[in-house]
Amino acid sequence: IFPSCTSDYYQFDDLLTSAEQALRMKVRNCMEKEVAPIMTKYWEKAEFPFEVVPKLGSLGIAGGTIKGYGCPGFSITANAIATAEVARVDASCSTFILVHSSLAMLTIALCGSEEQKQKYLPSLAELKTIACWGLTEPEYGSDASALMTTARKVDGGWILEGQKRWIGNSTFADLLVIFARNTTANQINGFIIKKDAPGLQATKIENKIGLRMVQNGDIVMKNVFVPDEDRLPGVNSFQDTSKVLAVSRVMVAWQPIGIAMGVYDMCHRYLKERKQFGAPLAAFQLNQQKLVEMLGNIQGILLVGWRLCKMYESGIMTPGHASLGKSWITSKARETVSLGRELLGGNGILADFLVAKAFCDLEPIYTYEGTYDINTLVTGREITGIASFKPAA
Ligand code: FAD
Repeated sequence: IFPSCTSDYYQFDDLLTSAEQALRMKVRNCMEKEVAPIMTKYWEKAEFPFEVVPKLGSLGIAGGTIKGYGCPGFSITANAIATAEVARVDASCSTFILVHSSLAMLTIALCGSEEQKQKYLPSLAELKTIACWGLTEPEYGSDASALMTTARKVDGGWILEGQKRWIGNSTFADLLVIFARNTTANQINGFIIKKDAPGLQATKIENKIGLRMVQNGDIVMKNVFVPDEDRLPGVNSFQDTSKVLAVSRVMVAWQPIGIAMGVYDMCHRYLKERKQFGAPLAAFQLNQQKLVEMLGNIQGILLVGWRLCKMYESGIMTPGHASLGKSWITSKARETVSLGRELLGGNGILADFLVAKAFCDLEPIYTYEGTYDINTLVTGREITGIASFKPAA
């Protein structure tokens, strides 16, 4: 049985509207009762839990902030709450939804034509079709704007050639949102590729130590034809991806919040139940100190995450704000989860007790959607006016 929530010490719940509180409880109940019991076995086998997709679909959270086209049209705060509640129980499920919803669907919503939105978004919102989002390449990770996949104009469409790496959901996604360099204009364009397009291949990356259920793939595109109607008209430069990343980075920041809360909840219960030296583990000062440090971190990241959402909603959030939120929150959650791993002793390295799984799952989150370093440099550039991404000449 998943532990009850003891991590909301400063009553963050009071800051939410009644609709947001109701959404929080709906997602929490489903995740704790229906999803938590089956996660460890999938995580250990590194298999995607397809049986969970209808449950997540019934929550009505895919498409998050998108309005219309069968999507929920949540405020960014509501979407953030739902993200954290999924991640509190399982980070892989949360990454699956984020890639599908806050990256792929949002790109179609923000950069797609009216026809594309009507054609693709409703079934994506119901999780009847699944999407992935491919920016990173084997040779271009942090330096993604230099990507080398090409898009060559031909009669009636485009020919895509190149490779992508790390793309979540790509081994089974029905639709692949892919970024490529237009060979005529030398600018980045976006395309929707169908799963069965000839010349397209996605192979699972094996042996990940975190987010093991998420199926990250290496994609190879050889002479893949994409019809004109599947080029996203709103992607005409690398900057256009930042419209999407501004929102998705806020969402990603809420994953570590949820993960840290789940770990605290587990530790709090464990320390009261397990005894050593004739007393519950919770009775030892060193253990209490770790627990309180974890709790303090969680109150801090919750409030920063919440403020980020409010700044976005009032139109004042900058890329630097989003990057600082993502990097700082993730690093604090990493510290928190690490303390939790210590508190569980030997059980802290067993996936069955949630904490070890969460500890491993935070590592890729520290790296994706901009590593800690890259997000730090985005904020650094904003506050100093000096970009320091390239080594000094
Ligand atoms: P590198 O860019 O090679 O960086 C290596 C190290 O060097 C890092 O510590 C980095 O911070 C540091 N570094 C690099 N450049 C600088 C610099 N200028 N200054 C200081 N330090 C620097 N991508 C997608 O497009 N779609 C996905 O769905 C997706 N899912 C992912 C899921 C997982 C589990 C993982 C691990 C990655 C995923 N990614 C995805 C890719 C992810 O965004 C990249 O891994 C990330 O951007 C880092 O790129 P890299 O791994 O090539 O590291």
